[in-house]
Amino acid sequence: MTTSALAGTAAAHHSRNQLVLDTALIEKYNASGPRYTSYPTADRFHPGITAEQYVNALQTRFRQRTTKAKAVSLYVHIPFCNTLCYYCACNKIITRDHSQSNRYINYVGREIGIVRKLMEGDASGHIVEQLHLGGGTPTFLAHAEMTKLMSMLRDAFTFSPEAEISIEVDPRKVSADTIAFLGRLGFNRISVGIQDFDPLVQQAVNRIQTEAETMTVIEAARANGFVSVNADLIYGLPRQTVAGFAQTLDKVIAASPDRIALYSYAHVPHLFKPQRSIQFDTLPSAQTKLAILALAIDKLGEAGYVYIGMDHFAKPTDELAVAQTEHKLHRNFQGYSTRPDCDMLAFGVSAIGKVGAAYVANVKTLDEYYTHLDAGTLPVMRGVELDADDLLRRDVIQKLMCDFELDFAALGKQYQIPFKTYFAPDLAALAPLAADGLVELDDHSVRVTPRGRLLVRTVAMQFDKYLREAKSTAKYSKVI
Ligand code: SF4
Repeated sequence: MTTSALAGTAAAHHSRNQLVLDTALIEKYNASGPRYTSYPTADRFHPGITAEQYVNALQTRFRQRTTKAKAVSLYVHIPFCNTLCYYCACNKIITRDHSQSNRYINYVGREIGIVRKLMEGDASGHIVEQLHLGGGTPTFLAHAEMTKLMSMLRDAFTFSPEAEISIEVDPRKVSADTIAFLGRLGFNRISVGIQDFDPLVQQAVNRIQTEAETMTVIEAARANGFVSVNADLIYGLPRQTVAGFAQTLDKVIAASPDRIALYSYAHVPHLFKPQRSIQFDTLPSAQTKLAILALAIDKLGEAGYVYIGMDHFAKPTDELAVAQTEHKLHRNFQGYSTRPDCDMLAFGVSAIGKVGAAYVANVKTLDEYYTHLDAGTLPVMRGVELDADDLLRRDVIQKLMCDFELDFAALGKQYQIPFKTYFAPDLAALAPLAADGLVELDDHSVRVTPRGRLLVRTVAMQFDKYLREAKSTAKYSKVI
C-alpha cells in the first residue's frame, strides 16, 4: 500500500473516530518517546527516595483530615506466569510451582499491614474507588489465594460500593467458573489478553490460545455482570500479516468488547531477554506494521469504536469514551481511567505507587521483597518527589493525553502563572509540529488534530523538562 493510500484510507474514517493515520507524519515523527503513565517518567526515579520518604508521604496524607473522605486507588502486582510469551516486557516469574504464589500473598498481606498501620485508624476516611490486579498473570492465583488477597484488602480498607475493581485475565486455563468466582469476589471490570488469533503468530510468540478459550472468558464476563470488557491486541508481532490480522480483528469485533487496546510491539531484545527468542527476520517490515495499524484503525472506526488516545479504543457508550467527552478522563500507571486523579497505594514486587507529590517504586525481585518485609520495612527501591514545576507539567501532559487540548487561560488561572511566558520554550518547540499539522496552536490554546492524535506523546514530549535537559530519548520505545 502506498503512503497516500494509507493516509487516504484512514482519512475516510476521520469523522468516525477523530483519527487520521498520516504515514508521512508518522515516518517523520516516529521517534522514541515515553508513554506518560507518570510524569516525571519512571526512568527519572532515583534511589534517594526510600521507605522513610514513603512513610512520611503516607503519614502526611493521612494526617490531612478533611470532612470529605479522600479517594484512593489500590494496585496489586501478581508476578507469576505459567509460560513465557516471547514478546513480554513485564516483570514476571515463570513457574509452575503454585506454592510460590501462596507465600507471595502472605507477604503482600504484610506489606498491606504496614501501610494500613501508618494510616493510624483513619482508613474509614479514605475510600477505595479503584482496585486493579495486574501482572504477570493475576489468574495464576488459586481461588483460595484470590479469596485471601481480597479479604486482606477489604479488611484493611473501606471500599466504595461503586468501586471499579479490575483484573487482567489470561484466558488460557481460565474457566467460566473462575470468571463467575471473580464476579462474586467483587470484580466488575476485566481485561483479556488476546494479542493475535493467527496460529502462526501464536506459535512464533509461544502463546497458544484458542478462540474458544478467549470467547468463554468474554461471554462469562458478560453473564456475570462485568461492566466493561477490554481486549488487548498487539501489532508488529513476528509472522503477522495484514490478512491474518484482518481475521483477528473481525473475530474480536464480533465478540464486541467494550474497549480494545492495540499495542505496538517494540523489539528491544537487549532490554528484554525473552525477546531474544524472536528471530528478527520473522518480524513484519515497518511498512507492513503501518499497514496493519491503518487496517485496524479503519476496521475499528467502521465498527463504531472511538479513539480514546495512545493505544486505546472504546465503544461510545463505554465509560472511558463518556468520560472523555465530559473532559473527565485521567491517566495513571494502568493507562486511562475514569476516576479523578487520586493517590495510589501499590503492593507487590515492582509495583509503583503515588502518594501526595511522590512516586514510589518497589523492589523488583522476590528475594529483596521478602527480605524487606521480614525486617518489617516497606520494600521501596526508588522514586521521585515532585516539585511545583513537575506537578504543573504533569497536569499539562495529562490534559494533552486525555483531552487532546490545553487551554492557556484556564491553566494559568489554576496555577497562578502567565502560561505563555512560563511555557515559552515549550510552545516554541511546538511550532514545527504546528507547521506540519499535528497541532493547532494559537494565542489561547493548543489542540491536537486528528492527524496528530496517534503522535500525541510526541506533542507531550515538548513539555517534558527532563527530556529537554537529557536531550536523549534512546531508551524509550518508538511512538508507533
Ligand atoms: S506477556 Fe503476560 S502472560 Fe505472557 S509472560 Fe509476560 S506477563 Fe506473563
